[in-house]
Amino acid sequence: MNRKRQNARSVWIDITFSTAIVLLTVSAILLVFMTENGSTASQPDEKETTSSIPVETEQIDSNYPGIKIITKTSNDKNAPYAIQYPQSIHTIFNTEVKNYIEEVQDRYLETIIEKKRLDEKTSGELNVSYETLPHASGNYSFVFLNSSSFSDSESGKMEIRSFHLNPETGESFSIRDLFAGDSNRLQTLASSVRRAIQKDDSLQEHIIEDALEKYTEPRWMNYRNFAITDDALIIYFDENTIADRLVGPPIVSVPIDAIDELLASAFKPEDVEDAIESPNQGSMDSSNEEQNDGHSDKSTESDIEGDEQSKDSPLEGTVGKKVALTFDDGPDPKVTRQILEILQKHDAKATFFMLGSRVEYYSDIVNEMKEAGHELGNHTWNHADLTKLSPERIAKEIDKTSAIIEDVTGQKVEAFRPPYGAVNDAVHNITGLPIVLWDVDTQDWKYRDSARILQVVKENVKDGSIILMHDIHQSTADGLDAVLTYLKNEGFEFVTVKELEETTP
Ligand code: ZN
Repeated sequence: MNRKRQNARSVWIDITFSTAIVLLTVSAILLVFMTENGSTASQPDEKETTSSIPVETEQIDSNYPGIKIITKTSNDKNAPYAIQYPQSIHTIFNTEVKNYIEEVQDRYLETIIEKKRLDEKTSGELNVSYETLPHASGNYSFVFLNSSSFSDSESGKMEIRSFHLNPETGESFSIRDLFAGDSNRLQTLASSVRRAIQKDDSLQEHIIEDALEKYTEPRWMNYRNFAITDDALIIYFDENTIADRLVGPPIVSVPIDAIDELLASAFKPEDVEDAIESPNQGSMDSSNEEQNDGHSDKSTESDIEGDEQSKDSPLEGTVGKKVALTFDDGPDPKVTRQILEILQKHDAKATFFMLGSRVEYYSDIVNEMKEAGHELGNHTWNHADLTKLSPERIAKEIDKTSAIIEDVTGQKVEAFRPPYGAVNDAVHNITGLPIVLWDVDTQDWKYRDSARILQVVKENVKDGSIILMHDIHQSTADGLDAVLTYLKNEGFEFVTVKELEETTP
């Protein structure tokens, strides 16, 4: 199960985007309601867009010691946003990050106001999320993905910006600080990056030859947005610079071996080796693989044997009402586990539509799902809107995800749910899997209100319903027990999507 390292490049790239999207909707335990800090967004003359819509701010601890995640959301219908950023115990870093966030927010609100002058009905959307990339030296790279879109234009804008922190000293570090004082270092960096670009198949067809030279010139400025991990130095270019027609800005990953000679000692692999922790590796145990090979429902059937509601009588009306619970965008190390416990408590089977990039990191949980008899579904690698991708990329998003799930669990993936439910002919033709949508949308990602999930379910559920939820929000886990209790009392049996399809005429 050692595919992790070999795949480092694509993983980091995909992770950046997938978590960007996933993290937009990260939930929190602590809710703090605050009103907007008047200096930035709520100028009195911006009445149309901001006025007194409350801004919700949440703060939670991240998985990284000393780093808290702040999430700020506004549901203003003209100019909604969801912004997420890290804060540490160091004031300078905190201020730098906050200034950036304010700048992004201001730019967005100004654009909205300008656009509204032309067309009153224009609305926008802003999402800012970030990924933390740790290095064995203890240093962090925080990579922000800020994406904005407006109702008057089809394509949105994405921007990547990196911040860097030594959490012990509070100091920042730049691309320059990564390299020791060799006079050729910048030249070597530039040529390593160019070589990495040439080797990157996914970039090839998008490269703008004339621009490549210019944007990879040996100037520090060209490499200012970067992340350093134990495997690679990742360079983030601005959108439409070295390449175009990509989803998001071009990202180039230079294997650490290509530049390690030049690295400053604080970042040299051998100097920090003892500190390297090996992240989760693969499955906990594969003893169940054989007995459960192929279908998730095999164990399901025997698990609920004896339960009066498990009778296979699909054609009978009142007895044997079935519902399929589905959870998207995970796995999440905390929330998914809680959901698995609640499902177990109710002896319920569900279907998880997972992001390949997250499966790679939380493979233990995926095995727990499999062992509990849940169905494992494909939700693309990085939550891309497939209708905007080339056929090759659609295939890659889907195939890679099925491959990692099958690799990790030994179980075949037999269901696919496109992100945003977005499908077109190309998606239909390319995916070899049944496309599974839903009929009950709990909108748990939007409201983050555990009580609301039950309310939506009560109002909409019927025999054969497929309920959409997300196992990345704490509020979803918190509301699930009540939903299951209600459905059980109403006589519903909880089945996987596959079982539902098999029994539905
Ligand atoms: Zn999704």
